[in-house]
Amino acid sequence: MSCRASEPDRDCALCPRLQAFRTEWRRREPVWFNAPVPSFGPATARLLIVGLAPGLQGANRTGRPFTGDHAGILLYGTLTQFGFAKGTYEARPDDGLELVDARITNAVRCVPPENKPTGAEIGTCRPFLKSTIAEMPDLRAIVTLGRIAHDTAAAALEARRSQVPFAHGASHAVGRVRLFDSYHCSRYNTNTGVLTPEMFRSVFAQVREFLSAQFLST
Ligand code: URA
Repeated sequence: MSCRASEPDRDCALCPRLQAFRTEWRRREPVWFNAPVPSFGPATARLLIVGLAPGLQGANRTGRPFTGDHAGILLYGTLTQFGFAKGTYEARPDDGLELVDARITNAVRCVPPENKPTGAEIGTCRPFLKSTIAEMPDLRAIVTLGRIAHDTAAAALEARRSQVPFAHGASHAVGRVRLFDSYHCSRYNTNTGVLTPEMFRSVFAQVREFLSAQFLST
């Protein structure tokens, strides 16, 4: 299924459980975004970052991936440090922050209850990731945040999971792109030390080095 649009409709009904959750939150918090969260950043970017799914009070509230989430502090700080973002991240979609040669999306576009999408929801949403990748002509690198994002991106690229085993800091060539694996920059992972800021930065340092080498060789 590669002909689907890259963004679900605001009232997407493909996942009944997620639709019901969204409907409930529209009732409870009518001024929140409460809809599939669109990708952020230019389709001309060479780098795509794939998260898991919008956080309830973060991206689902603000309408921009990782914005208002604890995870966004480390992600946007690191992107700025490596020149993939400019401006100041202020956890608001109108903070003027711009992505530079980078785009952020999620494997699942709607907020899932307890932050846990089901296997069926992940599979149903995957064609949107596939179309997002297909509409990026200059894409060279994908950073996946966590195993679910990794497995979903690998499937969207039609790679066999055994060919691209997930490991933090690993990278794999898949067709026209290189897939870089990172643990998710969630509050849980950073608070427990599963992911340190240094570990996260080292992934983006690899990506920057890879893209610079690509630039020199073209
Ligand atoms: N916010 C997002 O948009 N995605 C995640 O994976 C986590 C928080």
